[in-house]
Amino acid sequence: LVSLEEHDPELYDLIEQEKNRQWKSLELIASENFTSKAVMECLGSALTNKYSEGLPHARYYGGNEIVDQVEVMCQKRALQAYGLDEDKWGVNVQPYSGSPANFAVYTALLKPHDRIMGLDLPSGGHLTHGFYTYSKKENTRKAVSATSVYFESLPYQVDPVSGLVNFEQLARDAALFKPAMIIMGGSAYPREWDYAQFRKIADDNGALLLMDMAHISGLVVTNEAVSPFDYADVVTTTTHKSLRGPRAGLIFFRKDERGFEPLINQAVFPALQGGPHEHQIAGVATQLKEAMTPEFKVYSQQVKKNAAALGAKLVSMGYTLATGGTDNHLVLWDLKPQKITGSKFEKVCDAVCITLNKNCVPGDRSAVTPGGVRIGAPALTTRKFVEEDFEQIAVFLDAALKIALKIQEQSGPKLKDFVALLDGNDEIAALKAEVN
Ligand code: PLP
Repeated sequence: LVSLEEHDPELYDLIEQEKNRQWKSLELIASENFTSKAVMECLGSALTNKYSEGLPHARYYGGNEIVDQVEVMCQKRALQAYGLDEDKWGVNVQPYSGSPANFAVYTALLKPHDRIMGLDLPSGGHLTHGFYTYSKKENTRKAVSATSVYFESLPYQVDPVSGLVNFEQLARDAALFKPAMIIMGGSAYPREWDYAQFRKIADDNGALLLMDMAHISGLVVTNEAVSPFDYADVVTTTTHKSLRGPRAGLIFFRKDERGFEPLINQAVFPALQGGPHEHQIAGVATQLKEAMTPEFKVYSQQVKKNAAALGAKLVSMGYTLATGGTDNHLVLWDLKPQKITGSKFEKVCDAVCITLNKNCVPGDRSAVTPGGVRIGAPALTTRKFVEEDFEQIAVFLDAALKIALKIQEQSGPKLKDFVALLDGNDEIAALKAEVN
């Protein structure tokens, strides 16, 4: 067998370029991280060759004696890592990623067109929690993800001023809408989740309570974020964000008289997926082993310290953060006071090798023109950055923003005209050199 480099130099070169980009730029996307060598070895292992439809010890193909042990190991470590009693909680480790994990939960526990309530996308929620776009012109709404195609969704919002979940609105709307499920969790929420308030509203309305802890699962596993397991009926997560594993998804479910276990297992396979990706499952297993070490606890603490240091520095420079700061791994920077969109600022950051993403901030009306950016600490904390490094990043970001504002003065409001002025800009070149 020949290596990738020999077999396909063109593709090999692209992968090398991407590796170089990841390590040369300042990687601040809140949902990204750098996996370990151990995880990478699992992903490139012989496990990728094997079909193992079904569950451990109940497969549709032969030759699964070893794969069964891998999957059981992953299940056991998942329950142990999150401190769960095997008699009370079960886990399915087969979802290919976070979105299929969420859809499997809906498929298992809801009927088509049942009502759900999740955090709205412009408020920091995720597409899979049931999001619509609205066309004022046509006076229609459009389902964007399969969740809002197959289920009736009434999203709840954050308060436009405080940036915190608006529980008054949620309680009022839930009482009228009577959702079958309330979904907690999001992609851009910098504060702790008030699980008790959600539980009360779910109980008042007979709704199931799902927590999608994808973003904070590395903080939950190390007790650096409040655990949702005391409150939620079902918990989903991705494994590649703050948990630092391979791309995959997990579904934890309560084992009680409601009988979630067979429903969830059947929703994953055969309803939605085929053969599990056992190489990914092995990668998750080895990452869960790492997540239980004292070093990973220190890592998670540093992630929070770094996000807090970045936030505090930006605030000290006079900038505005949604909710005023952060309790977790990310900050949401509101650029509306500076009168520039997140899209334009993201372009300038890209040009100077700072990777972050445009994001809606509280008060934004549309996800199409986001008013800010989301900045996360997990990836650079893996690269051993500490508070002073994140303060320096704030200084770079301040410089990038000043450049962006100058360019906007020349370009006017259109993104296309703005982008056209980035190439060959001397200040961008100088800042890029400094960042590198
Ligand atoms: N749930 C949340 C809260 C997320 O932030 C994301 C991804 O960003 C997902 C689910 C979906 O995960 P995936 O991209 O792995 O499908």
